[in-house]
Amino acid sequence: MLGKGRWSGRGRRLGLASLLVTALVMVSSGQPVHAANLGSEPTLPYAQPNNASLPRAGCDTTATDPTSPPASSPAAVQVIYAWNNSTGNQYATNVEHAARVMDRVDWLFDQASNYDQHVKVSCRSTTTSTYNQYAQAMVTPVKIDTTNTDFWSIANELSAKGYDDSNRWYVVLTEFPAPSNSAYWCPTTGGSGCISVVEAWDSGVVGHEVSHLLGAGHAYMGEHVWQDSNGNWQAEQYCPDIMMCFGDWWAFDLGYRQNYDPSETSARFHVDNYPSTTTNNAAVHPLLTPPVCCDVGANNDLLTAQERTIEAQTPGTSNPTGFTTSGSGAAISVTPQGSYAGVSARYFDNRRSLQFVSSPQSGEKSVSVSRRPSVTAGHNYKFFVRLRADSGTAALRMRWYNSGGTLLSTSLGSSFGLTSNWWEWSYEAVAPSNAASVQISVVAPAGGSQPATLTMHVDTLQLTDCSANQNSLCRPTT
Ligand SMILES: [Zn+2]
Repeated sequence: MLGKGRWSGRGRRLGLASLLVTALVMVSSGQPVHAANLGSEPTLPYAQPNNASLPRAGCDTTATDPTSPPASSPAAVQVIYAWNNSTGNQYATNVEHAARVMDRVDWLFDQASNYDQHVKVSCRSTTTSTYNQYAQAMVTPVKIDTTNTDFWSIANELSAKGYDDSNRWYVVLTEFPAPSNSAYWCPTTGGSGCISVVEAWDSGVVGHEVSHLLGAGHAYMGEHVWQDSNGNWQAEQYCPDIMMCFGDWWAFDLGYRQNYDPSETSARFHVDNYPSTTTNNAAVHPLLTPPVCCDVGANNDLLTAQERTIEAQTPGTSNPTGFTTSGSGAAISVTPQGSYAGVSARYFDNRRSLQFVSSPQSGEKSVSVSRRPSVTAGHNYKFFVRLRADSGTAALRMRWYNSGGTLLSTSLGSSFGLTSNWWEWSYEAVAPSNAASVQISVVAPAGGSQPATLTMHVDTLQLTDCSANQNSLCRPTT
């Protein structure tokens, strides 16, 4: 199983990079193979289309001189093929591969959600009838003169050569080995330095770096931290999406809870630990077309950003918006701030979570999303949530209501033992006849085996309609 208390070597290195990097450049781990001929594409949560059925990203703007886009030119990606004296110019051989990778990046942004959304791409020719013509229009070859292959040597040289337009974000695919796949965060405007340099040509890595260009950070999960033999802090890692495990996952922010929420464009997500106040939602980035509901995709969600991530309020706030408890003495707050290297940060993704304190020995206690999202009778729904507690048991519940607000029936999952890690749990049920809305709850069942005081942390809630717009998919837990 992916995730679930395991980390891949890649994920672990990413976590370490996240720990060390506080500036705007996010350095992701180098792939073991470099250059143009790497072809291993991520296949989760489902296989990508083959080349023959892969839609073209297309050209959103055309400038015959890619270093001088027209003044009125809209924001767009400029794809650069970079070669140097040591590699020679292999453009003719590799240009179609470069274009396919960008097509796949566009596909993954569209396919990650049930929203229609695409990357805007700049081309240098309107002659795009054949795939090769289209690829040549999209991908600009540039010789890199410096023998240094680090991020800033390449970025500075490109800026000096005129690739510094504020309406351009540069995706640089190198023919030569570059020591890391890196990108600068440019969430609002492009221009000088707004580039990603990628030696590993696959949509997992390139999509990951393009996501950084859009202002997305690593949504790393800081539970179970420990110091390794070198004294470096390490974190348990999960693989929920392309921002953590780009070798396996192409999907971007499954669950709309860390970087990307096309369903609620006013939503913003913290990109770093509290007390950082920097927030972003890549779905409103000028490089992307406005999201339009609804088409097929890997994911959908019926909750609001606040209901998913408890992002809107400061750690320590009592009774955060959107949640209610039942059972005497049960209390909720935005989880108070914790130190990363101390006992626990207590946030699944180091941002916000909900702290639920109750005494279930004396009777059942629960915390619910106050609002009841609308449902369609007969559709299959899946409720996801990440939970942690030092001990105790919990269960997930869906209560179905008719259009008049009368409770029709209750679907209650089996009880399970809580762990001190952020396991993701899910429960799936079918909306009964006449159901119009559902209330989702995390229940602490009554019983003498429960701790006297159960302190449970709740995060990354999601309610998916498995029957709609899903490519027949209701994603597994991650
Ligand atoms: Zn990264």
